[in-house]
Amino acid sequence: MRAVDIIIKKRQKGELTGEEIKYFVDSFTRGETPDYQVAAWAMAVLLNGMTPRETTDLTLAMAHSGEILDLSRVVDIAVDKHSSGGVGDKTTFVVLPVVAACGLPVGKMSGRGLGFSGGTLDKIESIPGYRVDLTTDEFKQQLKEIGIVLTGQSVDLAPADGKLYALRDVTGTVQSIPLIASSIMSKKIAAGAQAILLDVKVGLGAFMETLAEARTLSNLMIDIGKQAGRQVVAVLSDMNQPLGAAVGNALEVIEAVDTLHGGGPADFRVHCLHVSAQMLMLGRRASDFESGWRMAETAIASGAAFEKFRVLVGAQDGDVSYLDRPQKFPKTKFIEVVKADRFGYLERVHARIIGEAAVALGAGRARKGDLVNRAVGFLIHRKVGDYVDQGHPLFTIYADDEAKLVACRQAVQTAFGWSDQPVPALPLFYS
Ligand code: URA
Repeated sequence: MRAVDIIIKKRQKGELTGEEIKYFVDSFTRGETPDYQVAAWAMAVLLNGMTPRETTDLTLAMAHSGEILDLSRVVDIAVDKHSSGGVGDKTTFVVLPVVAACGLPVGKMSGRGLGFSGGTLDKIESIPGYRVDLTTDEFKQQLKEIGIVLTGQSVDLAPADGKLYALRDVTGTVQSIPLIASSIMSKKIAAGAQAILLDVKVGLGAFMETLAEARTLSNLMIDIGKQAGRQVVAVLSDMNQPLGAAVGNALEVIEAVDTLHGGGPADFRVHCLHVSAQMLMLGRRASDFESGWRMAETAIASGAAFEKFRVLVGAQDGDVSYLDRPQKFPKTKFIEVVKADRFGYLERVHARIIGEAAVALGAGRARKGDLVNRAVGFLIHRKVGDYVDQGHPLFTIYADDEAKLVACRQAVQTAFGWSDQPVPALPLFYS
């Protein structure tokens, strides 16, 4: 078999066999098929799609490109969660400690920034020393001992997705339903969770802009999970505007810490309680949604969830003093509050424009392997539906470069759409 023939077949809208997909994934994982061929193939998949059968084969080939964890002897039930990617999505930093504090073990493998969407690993690495390269033995041991793990793909777990994800980030090949479904589900299957909560984002700042696309993605992932013997539940959540206020690596960790202390923006807090309640039901710790919600609220109010986050960070060699004193996170050279130049109701706070501006400030990557700036980003002070008076703060920019600050200020100003008439707030979830 030759990689070039597989690329041509997909370019010509052919359906790849399971053998072809496995050959392609394995040879890429071993380093025999170079990045440029895989990038060409990913573009052909983005343009021409894949059948559900091809997507399942791709998922299983990527999951089996490394070890598949068996957690059945480590914990009674391991639950995992994954978001399909959005702007300001720091849910993991709150939900993982909340559910773990409620006695539900959770082990998660996350990814880096992808296109305009921030990455959990890039964010958590804002905490000096935090290790995202746990081995599978470390993963299992930590899950058993403290009931919470948040790491990246190691060389042992779904390495094919790790490599493909980094390529997609910089080759314009992120927005493909089969590539997203297989990326998410291969990681989840490899990480061994028996039950998986999928947070599928929909809207202007999500990879799925319409509810129909988001439903297709979520049904596909549920089907793949079933075929792999996993229980999967999906929620559809709004990503037209950023989630919470903070967009940018360290800024998002700081907002998550604030939320674990009972503060944080209202939309983000409610989102986290909702996802936590779903996970607690999935993991059989809560009998219904309301009791799961109350358990999650109590875990935050009692301080147990914040303490669990400290334990997680400490276990992975992170400097917990940054959680105790978030003012220790590095500051940018420039911090500018941008005020509204008119009054009115906000009818749009375009999440993708803000996500792209954060990448332009340095929070994400333009090329594979680029270093990210942990400190830059935005605080978005207002939400769709808010009435804003002229001269009131709209957003704050954290930048290290004056030219980028000016360009991103202009770009983000265009993210805000105004109306003279009252505008309803956006829903947090869709059914
Ligand atoms: N999250 C992932 O892990 N992969 C994707 O492709 C998109 C979101």
